[in-house]
Amino acid sequence: MSRFLRKAFETLDVYVPGEQPRDKKYIKLNTNESPFPPSREVLDAVAAEAASLQLYSDPECTALRQTAAEQFGLQPENIFCGNGSDEVLNFAFMAFCDESKGMAFPAISYGFYPVFGDLYGLDCTAVPLCGNFTIDPADYFGLNKNIVIANPNAPTGLLLGIEQIRAILDNNRSNLVIIDEAYIDFGGKSCLPLIAEYDNLLVVQTFSKSRSLAGARLGFGFAQPEIIADLNRVKYSTNPYNINRETLAAGEAALRSQSYYDANCRTIMDNRDYTTEALRALGFEVLPSKANFIFARHSAIGGNELYLSLKEKGILVRHFSRPEISDFVRITIGTLAQMQTLVDAVRLILSQGGN
Ligand code: PMP
Repeated sequence: MSRFLRKAFETLDVYVPGEQPRDKKYIKLNTNESPFPPSREVLDAVAAEAASLQLYSDPECTALRQTAAEQFGLQPENIFCGNGSDEVLNFAFMAFCDESKGMAFPAISYGFYPVFGDLYGLDCTAVPLCGNFTIDPADYFGLNKNIVIANPNAPTGLLLGIEQIRAILDNNRSNLVIIDEAYIDFGGKSCLPLIAEYDNLLVVQTFSKSRSLAGARLGFGFAQPEIIADLNRVKYSTNPYNINRETLAAGEAALRSQSYYDANCRTIMDNRDYTTEALRALGFEVLPSKANFIFARHSAIGGNELYLSLKEKGILVRHFSRPEISDFVRITIGTLAQMQTLVDAVRLILSQGGN
């Protein structure tokens, strides 16, 4: 830390991304990436765009927003493009929260929410989950804070229904409600249609999971035009060319390859069913996930121990040390072959008494 750092940042608890180890080749089931490559159309579009990299990218992301508008039945004015959905979330915290209006979010959820809260010095409320790790919408009534909820939630994978989200929106007409749909394409129902009805709703989606573009960094914010205009105020005050040319081309081509990505999502859901059943047969409690990961624990082995034993066998999963969930591991759903290897490794670890 240099002596120049601003005081408020000295105590920041920064976000710690999942490991991206370079020491050997792992079966990587720790950061919820897709096991499938981008579509052929995406690869071709990126290759073609490289020849224009001497030029700045389109700050308005015109073609991508137009294509997305057609696909989602919206207007381009309803759409904001971010450098990953992390940037959309960051801009939303920056634009809509201050000392008089903090943010509320589930106490167990995406680890970046409290980090943004800290970064902007906000008064945040971490709302406890229910005993079975679900979210009770009524816990979000009357807080007088903006709200961000991942749906499905991470790392639990549990999904709220549209009516539950509607209840949160109805009871927060003076607060912005952000629904982070990073994992919505794996069996959930998007609340995107609600943006026509609610001027307090911002829906955030990403290309990192269902659309195999984690490395390209692309996310969407969907809302009524006034909210989108506010996000643009922040963007044009920080980084107008926030999406590079290759990513813009990749995003547009990805939207045009919907059937390829739909098929991948169906495969991942099938592989999720297989893994859930196989782990339950081995005695695991597996929460009923609607995401491209599962959250599982076993009474005979701790979460950290299982994470370490799997790592030794060349399989990376994610473990969180917070006491409420330290029994669990979060396992990204990969190909069927990867999941079979995982299940075999887990079976072996259990038969060896947890080592
Ligand atoms: N929201 C949730 C709930 C996530 O798990 C992630 C992935 N880490 C993100 C947002 C951010 O994804 P990205 O920035 O890659 O779009």
